[in-house]
Amino acid sequence: MPTVTEKSPVTVLPGVGRVRAECYARLGITTLGELLSHYPRAYENRGEIRLLRDARADAKTAVILTVATEPRCVRLRSRKSFLKFRAFDESASCEIVYFNQDYLRDKFTVGSEFRFWGRVERVGRNGLSMSSPIAEPYAPGVPLKRLCAVWRLTDGLSQKQVERDVTAALELLAGGSEDPLPAALLRRRNLCTLAFAERNIHLPADPRDLTIARRRLVYQEFFDFSLGATMLRSRAATHTAPPCAEGSVNRLLRQLPYSLTGAQARAVEEIRRDLARSVPMARMVVGDVGCGKTVVAAAAMLIAVQSGRQAALMAPTEILARQHYKELSDYFTRLGISCALLIGASTAKEKREIKAALSAEDPQKRLQVVIGTHALLSDGVEFAAPGLVVTDEQHRFGAGQRALLSQKNGYAHLLVMSATPIPRSLALVLYGDIELSRIDEMPPGRQRVDTFVVDESYRDRLNGFIEKQVEEGGQVYVVCPSVEEQEVAEDEVALRELDSNGLAHTEEKPTLKAAVAYAAELAERFPRYGVAFLHGRLKSKEKDEVMRRFADGEVQILVSTTVIEVGVNVPNACLMIVENAERFGLSQLHQLRGRVGRGKRKSYCVLVAGGEGKLSESARGRLQVMRTTYDGYAIAEQDLAQRGPGDFLGNGEAVRQSGALCFRIANAAEDTGILTQAAEDARALLREDPSLQSYPLLAERARAMFTQRDGLIS
Ligand code: ADP
Ligand code: MG
Repeated sequence: MPTVTEKSPVTVLPGVGRVRAECYARLGITTLGELLSHYPRAYENRGEIRLLRDARADAKTAVILTVATEPRCVRLRSRKSFLKFRAFDESASCEIVYFNQDYLRDKFTVGSEFRFWGRVERVGRNGLSMSSPIAEPYAPGVPLKRLCAVWRLTDGLSQKQVERDVTAALELLAGGSEDPLPAALLRRRNLCTLAFAERNIHLPADPRDLTIARRRLVYQEFFDFSLGATMLRSRAATHTAPPCAEGSVNRLLRQLPYSLTGAQARAVEEIRRDLARSVPMARMVVGDVGCGKTVVAAAAMLIAVQSGRQAALMAPTEILARQHYKELSDYFTRLGISCALLIGASTAKEKREIKAALSAEDPQKRLQVVIGTHALLSDGVEFAAPGLVVTDEQHRFGAGQRALLSQKNGYAHLLVMSATPIPRSLALVLYGDIELSRIDEMPPGRQRVDTFVVDESYRDRLNGFIEKQVEEGGQVYVVCPSVEEQEVAEDEVALRELDSNGLAHTEEKPTLKAAVAYAAELAERFPRYGVAFLHGRLKSKEKDEVMRRFADGEVQILVSTTVIEVGVNVPNACLMIVENAERFGLSQLHQLRGRVGRGKRKSYCVLVAGGEGKLSESARGRLQVMRTTYDGYAIAEQDLAQRGPGDFLGNGEAVRQSGALCFRIANAAEDTGILTQAAEDARALLREDPSLQSYPLLAERARAMFTQRDGLIS
């Protein structure tokens, strides 16, 4: 029998056949190693035993109960059946019900004890009931697991199966591979072995072990990332980029209906100096939403083009790419510069033509400016004369992708636009020697967006307020948390909510307002207005159509999930309502608020959240900050300080889809301490052994870190 390694297919596991392998494949898992890096997304805290009397109505609870009555099996006509018995603890008794599981009858003998995990519901006046709880026999001295992992699943796969397969994989691989990190480093940084970490992240023996395991895996992930990034950079450092020194931006500036703010002019000047050199520029323009970064990017692109080079602008979403295209192509065509839009939704013919024009040797036929999404990264996009690559809202892109863009046909200068103020220390680790231009000044005449925090009891008044705004000719955004955000269910605990002892804090999470239902409700309430619904599942054509109708004023009320978050510009919008606002991080809320107050209308932001007592301390704190603070930098600092939900560098489904800089287990915003250590250690190791000859396992991991994402490092 061939030896089993991390690279063996999941089908070597007992009981895993073609069907289950297909399920795993849908989660991106084909090998045992990949299965083991399918880290749990949450843990159930079954170790916190409560009395029935104290069980919360809204979350699953662990109780230890003694079976009081013989299970009774009730058959229904519909060939369904249920099993029913009573059980008690010292505080109360409770009815337990299982559906269609008659075979459980023998398990629950009168007098035996179980740990039940489920929701304790109140029935009738004093009755309690649990429906289909998970039951584990309880005997003093026989330990039960305190934390139970919850994995991300796909249709046809159950938690039980994943647990069984992960356990089997750990067994098969036990003692097999050596630790990729040098033992001295493990000792110095007080890290556990990788084998221990992999076992305990999935099957934590106790909460402390989970914390220890997670720390090692976070460290490892940052370490691998830093190795890869440093190797990429040291290769980049030996390259040069074409000096672009010809440009004058005056022709562009003359077209604008305004003059640049001092901060914008400074940024343009810094960029102009960088572009004139043959050292590839790596500069990030950071400035609060609405400060006017787009025109700075346009100026930079113009300099590159006037120097005979090409410029590309990459945006995180199609909506944004189209909006940039609309604005910039207008400027550029008037200056006689060719400009095209390349997005996933472009037709095959368009794509072919754009690719051909980008790589055209003849400068007369060559496309000078391309604006697009990550479609710009696809095969066959080659620049004949790359000059400048601009990415908008950088935290949505992986560092690797940016490096890739600067590699096609030699190196280009790189400009990154971000509304997320990033501390310089963190920028250094994540992006290397990137220079910062801060736009710390708003265009004149901007007014403050008055912000209110309200709960459900204000719903009627809020509807009245919507009506008033629309009657006066304004437009309204209503943002609901996206469907994907429900990934962590109410009774589970996201991994990062574990404290240093590995204990979970279950934060109360109100049921999310279903965006769909709400859109329908608003449409019904305001039949005279145009109400539209925008969400991530719409095809990009449909999204665009909805956005266009909103921008053109055909739609007055736009209900959307957070797809509108970045960059969209509709100056007539004057009211932003955020539903379940406690679910959003500070930076995200600030971004959303930045969607209004862009025109002449007095604008408002209303954050709808659970009432007093229903919100956690930190959620209340976040909303309070929004009510009193309007400065994006101050908000970002608070965000970091509060260790908010990590949207600082972006996470969540949208980001995962766009291939952002997001890690499997680490969180760059929250695990900054570990990140700094790992980056330091990785650099030290590379100084000692630049090509990692003595560390083949690490070399492989570093390579995988980037090849998986971007097909980089060969
Ligand atoms: P962001 O930095 O969020 O990307 P944008 O580039 O979208 O901001 O600019 C926001 C709005 O401000 C746009 O409508 C733009 O035309 C306008 N704007 C940009 N710079 C100035 C300026 N110096 N004076 C007046 N308006 C400006
Ligand atoms: Mg922008």
